[in-house]
Amino acid sequence: MSVKEIKKNRLFNPKGDREFEKRRLINGNSTNLFELNNIKYDWAMTLYRAMMNNFWIPEEIPLGNDAKDYKILPESEQRGYDKVISFLVFLDSLQTANLPNFASYVTAPEVNLCLAVQTFQEAVHSQSYGYILDTVVSAQKRDLIYNYWREDEFLMNRNVVITSIYEEFAESPSTENFILAAMANYILEGVYFYSGFSFFYVLARQGKMCGTAQEIRYIQRDELTHLVLFQNIFNTLRKENPELFGGDMTNRLLSLMSNAVENEISWGQYIIRDGVLGLTDEILDRYIKYLANRRLSAIGMAPLYPEFTDHPMKWVDDFSSVNQIKTDFFEARPSAYTKASAVNWDELE
Ligand code: ZN
Ligand code: ZN
Repeated sequence: MSVKEIKKNRLFNPKGDREFEKRRLINGNSTNLFELNNIKYDWAMTLYRAMMNNFWIPEEIPLGNDAKDYKILPESEQRGYDKVISFLVFLDSLQTANLPNFASYVTAPEVNLCLAVQTFQEAVHSQSYGYILDTVVSAQKRDLIYNYWREDEFLMNRNVVITSIYEEFAESPSTENFILAAMANYILEGVYFYSGFSFFYVLARQGKMCGTAQEIRYIQRDELTHLVLFQNIFNTLRKENPELFGGDMTNRLLSLMSNAVENEISWGQYIIRDGVLGLTDEILDRYIKYLANRRLSAIGMAPLYPEFTDHPMKWVDDFSSVNQIKTDFFEARPSAYTKASAVNWDELE
């Protein structure tokens, strides 16, 4: 078998290896059996439990005030709200559809368990957008928003770029394309959502669309686990297959990240057009580059933008935390109605 070949996980494999020492993330000989007391990757079990504890129901967050707020939002903010939702609808739909293909090449059952929960959570995110669009905007507007992903030229171009790496792997599965697809997932979870999320937090900080921001917090809490999942997938891949990371792989990964950063920044600028209080082109630029540096360092790569070491919107991190939501400020029910997460994210990240 050549170093570039990647084997699809066999569905029925009675001759698979049961010993966890032989287990590998890709190109292993897995039985596919979930033997959760015989695991190799501890991080996967920790994550699985954290993901399950995050279970939430979008309709439990009231959005009545958002429907009233939306009607009196300035046009620039309405436009931003619509476009960001439409982009998020696309990203979550894409993830739900693509993850099973990616997982079919993963030969570690405990990692597949996490990917299955992730797929389910991305579907819950789609449910939340459906609920938001049913409650906050008119049926006519909802219809438009659902179609922006291909009718808005800017969004269409972005979505082509994002999807092309997934499609490349689906059409030509190889170890190289698997690594690139893992990186694309990691970037999607760790960079692409963030301009959009911060847009909602900026609005909510001014007391607008607070229910939507609450939905977004729960979504972001899930996305954080997906980010950590792909971080671990990536680091495990490198540990088990160092030979795949030679040659021009580092440059290819870095160029994926730098393209993503440019696209995310220009998208953010397209959304805000200097029309949202507290969010400027410059802050957004610094924020996305800062995030990219953090994401790279978590997978053992040098920062692309060494001059951007500080978080330019520190408040976003506090504001986005589900567990720090004050009930008197938001109309939502008391914070953290789900079980508290047992994971120390600083350690995992
Ligand atoms: Zn999602
Ligand atoms: Zn996700």
